[in-house]
Amino acid sequence: MLLSIVIPVYNEAGNLQLTLQALQSELCKVGCDSEIVFVNDGSTDESQGILSGLAAADSTIKVLNFSRNFGQQAAITAGLDFASGDAVVIMDADLQDPPEILADMVKLYQQGYDVVSAQRVSREGEGLFKRLTASAFYWIMQRAVDRRIVPEVGDFRLLSRAAVLALRRFREQHRFMRGLVAWLGLKEAILPFRRSPRAAGETKYTLFKMIRLAWTAVASFSALPLRLSIAAGVALSLAGFGYFLFALYAALVLGRVVPGWTSLVFLQCLFSGVTLLALGLIGDYVARIYEEIKNRPLYVVSEILNA
Ligand code: UDP
Ligand code: MG
Repeated sequence: MLLSIVIPVYNEAGNLQLTLQALQSELCKVGCDSEIVFVNDGSTDESQGILSGLAAADSTIKVLNFSRNFGQQAAITAGLDFASGDAVVIMDADLQDPPEILADMVKLYQQGYDVVSAQRVSREGEGLFKRLTASAFYWIMQRAVDRRIVPEVGDFRLLSRAAVLALRRFREQHRFMRGLVAWLGLKEAILPFRRSPRAAGETKYTLFKMIRLAWTAVASFSALPLRLSIAAGVALSLAGFGYFLFALYAALVLGRVVPGWTSLVFLQCLFSGVTLLALGLIGDYVARIYEEIKNRPLYVVSEILNA
């Protein structure tokens, strides 16, 4: 069998050699044919030069250079489009995903699993904030995206040919690969591992990027936020109507004509706030529909080496 390894790369000059060495020594142990597909996602450091050198020295190393940065999800998509293996493993370029568990992944694949997902049982070198936001992320993903999403499973996983062929058919712009894999519903095995700190360099995922990914995931899988805004609108309207009845009662029965300026201003702000929020939400979905309908390519490859 042929095993493909897909690695998205964005400014990982300090990690590429290390990752490749660790990977190749594990691939020898796995004992099947292999190819490594590096997808250079518009790196601005020396990554491109290093990758060209690696590809020149070894024809099983394939390199796709993007014309600019398209994001990790697009890089993974390109890797899956080009990989020709019977099974494909997606992993990071920073050695946070240990190649040592590749052999176990392949064993599970040979037992008939279409998806073998690696689950982080520990996160070394990551602070309390990252851990808390990560658990909040998976909590929301299970509820708003797909309940088959397994907590602490990232993009590090093995996919069978069947899973890869199915994933290639998704051409949506706003992509969340973990959600797509869960959506397939193929037979999945979970393999626990300890996640080590980055070998070199810094994480490319700032808080803003993580929030953006989470919102993409939610908005591309469900219309729940739109429906929630209907519920909020109904609840607030009922509360407003109740307040109106109370004001009538106070004026007609109690004879208390309330000056009421403060409460009016308060209600005005509250209602226009909620209205704007709901409009913004609808606007966001409409913008996503617009981007989807344009049907642009998901990435642009400027150079392909060894493929
Ligand atoms: N990456 C990418 N494009 C981007 C951001 C990241 O291809 O725009 C790659 C990056 O080089 C790495 C992987 O995606 O191989 C995961 O990124 P990172 O390690 O920064 O994320 P973290 O592990 O901190 O969540
Ligand atoms: Mg990483």
